[in-house]
Amino acid sequence: MPADIYARYLRSNGKDVAFVCGSDEHGVPITIRAKKEGVTPQEVVDKYHEIIKKSFHDFGISFDIYSRTSSSTHHETAADFFTKLHAQGEFEVQESEQYYDEKNNQFLADRYIIGTCPNCSYDQAYGDQCESCGSSLSPNDLKDPRSALSGEKPIKKATKHWYLPLDKYETWLKEWIVDGHKDDWKSNVYGQCKSWIDQGLHPRAVTRDLDWGVPVPLDEAKGKVLYVWFDAPIGYISATKDWAKENGKNWEDYWKGENTELVHFIGKDNIVFHCIIFPSMLKAEGSYILPENVPANEFLNLEGDKISTSRNWAVWLHEYLEDFPGKEDVLRYTLCANAPETKDNDFTWKDFQARNNNELVAIFGNFINRALVLTKKYYDAKVPARGELFEIDEEVISKIAEYPTKIAASIEKYRFREAMSYLMDLARVGNKYLADTEPWKLIKESPERVETILNLSLQLAANLSILGKPFLPFTMDKLQNMLAFKMESWSEAGSVDLLVTGHQMEDPSLLFDKIEDELVAAQVQKLEDTKKQNEMENHVVAPAKSEIEFDDFMKMDMRVGTVTAAEKLKKSKKLLKLSIDTGFDERTVLSGIAEHYQPEDLVGQQVCLLVNLKPRKMMGIESQGMVLMVEDKDGSLRLVQPNEAVNPGAGIS
Ligand SMILES: [Zn+2]
Repeated sequence: MPADIYARYLRSNGKDVAFVCGSDEHGVPITIRAKKEGVTPQEVVDKYHEIIKKSFHDFGISFDIYSRTSSSTHHETAADFFTKLHAQGEFEVQESEQYYDEKNNQFLADRYIIGTCPNCSYDQAYGDQCESCGSSLSPNDLKDPRSALSGEKPIKKATKHWYLPLDKYETWLKEWIVDGHKDDWKSNVYGQCKSWIDQGLHPRAVTRDLDWGVPVPLDEAKGKVLYVWFDAPIGYISATKDWAKENGKNWEDYWKGENTELVHFIGKDNIVFHCIIFPSMLKAEGSYILPENVPANEFLNLEGDKISTSRNWAVWLHEYLEDFPGKEDVLRYTLCANAPETKDNDFTWKDFQARNNNELVAIFGNFINRALVLTKKYYDAKVPARGELFEIDEEVISKIAEYPTKIAASIEKYRFREAMSYLMDLARVGNKYLADTEPWKLIKESPERVETILNLSLQLAANLSILGKPFLPFTMDKLQNMLAFKMESWSEAGSVDLLVTGHQMEDPSLLFDKIEDELVAAQVQKLEDTKKQNEMENHVVAPAKSEIEFDDFMKMDMRVGTVTAAEKLKKSKKLLKLSIDTGFDERTVLSGIAEHYQPEDLVGQQVCLLVNLKPRKMMGIESQGMVLMVEDKDGSLRLVQPNEAVNPGAGIS
């Protein structure tokens, strides 16, 4: 979204733009999915590339090319890049011991090694990360490592790899970023870079033992491919090559030209690759320009939780369009208004609805609709003439003149939320102008006043249609169709002579319409269902315990008792203090069920009780026994009870 707004803005300013992107197709998870589904990695990436490409297209992301790293242009470009660095002696060769699966005769990528997390003991942690506690790991950290391919214990085997000595670029990176971009890079980006550089950089392997990726172009590197972090950013170059070829351009103008500015739009998890590693590669190669800026965003969460495609905690674009046909711009608007430009932010369906109903419908849409409907009614949809101007008109004219520069300045500083809020402010100016002048009341006694008011309102609408295009392209096309006006050039905005007197417009229709509560509730429900399903799927039934002797069981004295009193403990969220009639005594038992039962609901209930458990003091109270509970999948606790009432003290066996 930010990249699209920026690219559209630059184009409307007559700049020569190459807006390139592509699918990064050499990740190890792709090969794992392929194995799981019994297909080739190529089949996996073919499927997803088309889905992703279509989604971007459907939401008006105006890439000049959306390419992919499994393309032949990319394989050639990435291999050439390696060859050049290799010939220049930029790599170091190192031998190391790595995990090897003897059954499958292959080295294991980090993701292919599963073992027990040293931090949380989760036994399905990957060699690069534990998905249970989130800590990042290296394969050697795992206890009981095993191969994800064969399940066997891997051996350690020596292997040779090529490394980019990032430590050699430390001094240069300090000058270029820490000293050179202190003021023009966003503080979140600058801060992350500085902390990486301050911690010291180390050589990083650019090759690995895997059969999916760009083969290392050296005879002595059979069976090795380029590491995905090395090949993926080169994808921007290969995409530009393909685009240039199809459009009669020279790709080198865009990557090596002095007047070209390279800007990367990414998320914060990619900052190190785009600000430190890729620039070091470009610097090592020597003939490329470096990024001018990397305005990375923080993370956008969904309803308070981290977005995860594997957990289906996501809003799928194609599903969105099924549920909200024709509302591409409402999502674009909400995403831009909530863009995590300076800190993590949250997308909620409630906010989506509010932005649509209170802003797009009530402000932008309302202004346009009133201006066009009144013009249709009074002047048969022809632009009326402007007459004598009063102070209130002059104010509107000065706002129209001022906003294009104001919005542009924010876009050029990569402050897209601010830019779009100014766009809405300009729509508010129009709304207020109509509310203050009330042309529908003036039409009888001063019709020439109404002509001026509607002329200015329509000029404002035409200005909005140019300035709003980067943010809301679908709606602005619709608006320009209604105005019978075609204009993309930013420099034309600011004028009140965009529409000539007598210009015939089309019949108006609504730009936005209200989103009802039911539609939003259905989306929230969909996420609730996902959450429930995830909980069920993640639930692991505890493994069976080891065998015990009958005598061990017989040592336990379990009885049915009746709860005679129950109260909450002031200092504890979990514990309830129960008085229980066991048939032979009345005793106090503390039970961790305060979050699952109200005290008053327990009085009179029969419970199963381990009565000969050694008394234990908790929160200053002695607990004499233990109430038996069952814990369900979702962690909720339920009492174990006889299915019919029995006498207190009845034994359980
Ligand atoms: Zn862990």
